Amino acid sequence: MPFSPAFNPATDHTRLGGLFYDVVTPAEFPRHILRYRNNRAAVTVGLDTLTDAEWVQHFGRFAPLPGSLEHPLALRYHGHQFQQYNPDLGDGRGFLFAQLRDRRGRLLDLGTKGSGRTPWSRGGDGRLTLKGGVREILAAAMLEALGVETSRAFSLIETGEDLERGDEPSPTRSSVLVRLGHSHIRIGTFQRLAANGETQAIAQLVEYVLETYYPELSVPEGGSGAQVLFDAVCRNVARVGTQWMAAGFVHGVLNTDNIAITGESFDYGPWRFLPRFDPSFTAAYFDQTGLYAYGRQPQALLWNLARLAECLLEFSSHKDLTDALARFPALYETELDAAWCRRLGVIQDNPESDRALRHAVTLFMETSGIPFHCLPFDWYGGGASRERALAGPRGDIYKDAAFNEARTQLEARTPIPGLSLDHPYFTGGLPCDMLITTVETLWTSLSEQDDWQMLDRKLAEIDLMADALRTRPMEA
Ligand code: AMP
Ligand code: MG
Repeated sequence: MPFSPAFNPATDHTRLGGLFYDVVTPAEFPRHILRYRNNRAAVTVGLDTLTDAEWVQHFGRFAPLPGSLEHPLALRYHGHQFQQYNPDLGDGRGFLFAQLRDRRGRLLDLGTKGSGRTPWSRGGDGRLTLKGGVREILAAAMLEALGVETSRAFSLIETGEDLERGDEPSPTRSSVLVRLGHSHIRIGTFQRLAANGETQAIAQLVEYVLETYYPELSVPEGGSGAQVLFDAVCRNVARVGTQWMAAGFVHGVLNTDNIAITGESFDYGPWRFLPRFDPSFTAAYFDQTGLYAYGRQPQALLWNLARLAECLLEFSSHKDLTDALARFPALYETELDAAWCRRLGVIQDNPESDRALRHAVTLFMETSGIPFHCLPFDWYGGGASRERALAGPRGDIYKDAAFNEARTQLEARTPIPGLSLDHPYFTGGLPCDMLITTVETLWTSLSEQDDWQMLDRKLAEIDLMADALRTRPMEA
């Protein structure tokens, strides 16, 4: 049986109508070598029972999933790239392939990257490098394991073409990626309608997004749906931003077309994880001014939210929209406290002590230069990890007076429920990282030895971490 009973196809996006997308044809590839199938994600949408051949048929040749979209849809959007408005955007190498619902009834997209040219490709080839595909798998897996609300990499198929790229030794191998995520509607989707003066379509999109992605929200009598939506987007975007910060993640390209209306983190290009706590650390080599540096991510998100507010001016009051923007910094700070408690494996206490803990720990991380991923590993659960931290390889750093304040804060904290410091991840003594050196070493073994077990091993290591951190306990 190819589809499990959990498979629940949907076509919701077509309700929006042709103004929002173009029907496109997938590229035909010379080869289809299945490199990655995310079975854990597939279980959640009833696609785990596909054979590999069926999988390739759907996620490499894009045979429609029965009951879902009949044709791929390249989505239309504009956006600000590095704060410059660019109307020449849209799905230029991807499309919405299918929609489905998970067991809780939430709508999910299967969107592609590298599936061929579209009306929005302009000069581009519509393709994704194999390295780009592998990097998206690694980023999504690591972020998910660190508790970040992120899209999942669902499938990666190598496609047998030679690609020319300025930022990779070329020719370089090609791939097609499918990601599973909560919406590919972006801030840029609204911006395009606003730029074209399509006021009615903005109203339609607001209603669609509220109904589809925010069913728990209600619009008060005489209130503005756009405002309710905007408040919710601000909350979700603030939350995901803080999750990145606590994960030590630099997205790299925080353009308005890369910000989903659900706030879910997605689209992983030149991302990096921080080696050390450094607000000026920049991921993308083409980000010369550091606009999207680690410490500037919250400002970038707020700037993007202001661009969304501009699209909603016809549907809410200027004051209500700017009030929502003005609440962002405080909202962000509160969420950041929560994100750091989570990152350190301790339960939240009260606003003052949570703030004090976060300040002490991040100040120490910044001034000491300790590897970013090490301190949360060593002190996971706070005081419960005291013996382990002090006896471990960084014990001397933690015995230094410079650590006193952070140590006092950590030792006062209660670990998250279910934490086991006997877990093999902790007893193994090696924190899992996704530093650029790790990524490049992995890529070298994939590309030079074609050793794909290396990728499996890294993903298993990430799973072990997720289990230990209790961000995603393994099913018994
Ligand atoms: P991204 O950096 O992946 O968010 O893409 C930014 C914009 O460039 C989007 O409109 C993409 O569709 C487009 N784009 C990126 N790479 C290509 C490519 N190889 N071919 C066509 N369009 C592309
Ligand atoms: Mg993008």
